[in-house]
Amino acid sequence: RAKQEGRNAYRSFTQEMQAYSTRYLQVLNALRQAIAQEQLHVHYQPQISLISGDVIGAEALLRWHHPELGNISPAEFIPIAEESGLILQIGEWVLRVAVAQAKKWHQLGLDKLIIAVNLSAVQFRHAGLPNLVMQILKEEDFPPQYLELELTEGVAMHDPQGAIAMMNSLHERGVRMSIDDFGTGYSSLSYLKQFKAYKLKIDQSFVRDISTDAEDKAIVSAIIGMAKNLGLQTIAEGVETAEQQAFLREEGCHEAQGYHYSKPLPAADFETFILGASAA
Ligand code: C2E
Ligand code: MG
Ligand code: MG
Ligand code: MG
Repeated sequence: RAKQEGRNAYRSFTQEMQAYSTRYLQVLNALRQAIAQEQLHVHYQPQISLISGDVIGAEALLRWHHPELGNISPAEFIPIAEESGLILQIGEWVLRVAVAQAKKWHQLGLDKLIIAVNLSAVQFRHAGLPNLVMQILKEEDFPPQYLELELTEGVAMHDPQGAIAMMNSLHERGVRMSIDDFGTGYSSLSYLKQFKAYKLKIDQSFVRDISTDAEDKAIVSAIIGMAKNLGLQTIAEGVETAEQQAFLREEGCHEAQGYHYSKPLPAADFETFILGASAA
């Protein structure tokens, strides 16, 4: 019996592996066509100042709608893009689209708006990144201090010395860096001091229960306090309620982002949102 169960378990494991690799190859093949076929889009999520209530930035987030496979989440396709190397091409595309969009918004008069763009591990380790970023900023005639590159804490800590060197290089060129998903990547304080980061993005897993969970409250307060002492800005991710906002504001968190304000929006809707917000 045990043997039979073992065999069934093995068979279902194999089936799962096959299903996984079929989907993987399907997504990978589709991804190769995605840019050329204009299936990729960038949405923009407003970032709100907890001091003034104004929209001060936009995080660019990739969206992919495939004609047969439907919507595919970046959480699924970014890792596949990384493993296959396609991320370099996709990442460059996102950066160019987002900076060009932000330039349009600056020209419309929203000339203090920050554009935040996520960097993948592969992009961040690529020696050509600083030059690519400068080339895009130059092409779009966009001021570097309004571009913020997001790097996850996990990626930074995977190779702290490499991260320090790359951050220095981007910092020297006037581009801001923020550490995404902060709190999940086990930074040591000594590294954090050496990272040329401008901002910590407090991971949404800590924000989710701050209204009810004493430990999450303590963690978020500690991150905000530490950031303040290190001279870093803070933004909380995944803010969904007024209670969460009130707690964060009281603790001195500078900015917030989440469904409480808006989900990520197509560029035209972001514009409506920001114009509505400033008229109110
Ligand atoms: P992230 O950079 O940490 O982005 C935050 C994620 O949380 C986004 O998911 C966003 O839509 C979602 N979110 C925002 N507000 C809320 C909220 O109030 N509640 C909840 N539950 N979720 C919220 P999304 O767009 O699915 O992206 C997932 C991840 O995929 C991103 O995490 C980022 O790591 C990656 N990603 C997205 N676009 C890009 C890109 O252009 N390049 C790279 N390298 N990675 C990207
Ligand atoms: Mg991000
Ligand atoms: Mg995040
Ligand atoms: Mg994330």
